Amino acid sequence: MAQKVTLDEAECIGCQSCIELCPDVFGFDDETEKAYVYEQYTGEEECIEDAAAACPVDCIEVEEE
Ligand code: SF4
Repeated sequence: MAQKVTLDEAECIGCQSCIELCPDVFGFDDETEKAYVYEQYTGEEECIEDAAAACPVDCIEVEEE
């Protein structure tokens, strides 16, 4: 089952934890200093869940499709 990731950039504080844990899925925008979803449907379920759990402001959402 595919997982769709959404990241609420308005809530993101730019700590980069998600990027460290899951660099194939999350990227960092140097201009806004916030993370964004770099690539969907990578099949990196485990690290997406780790990143969502590690986010200090809980702004990463994972939906099963
Ligand atoms: S872990 Fe959360 S707050 Fe930190 S950069 Fe990623 S989305 Fe933003």
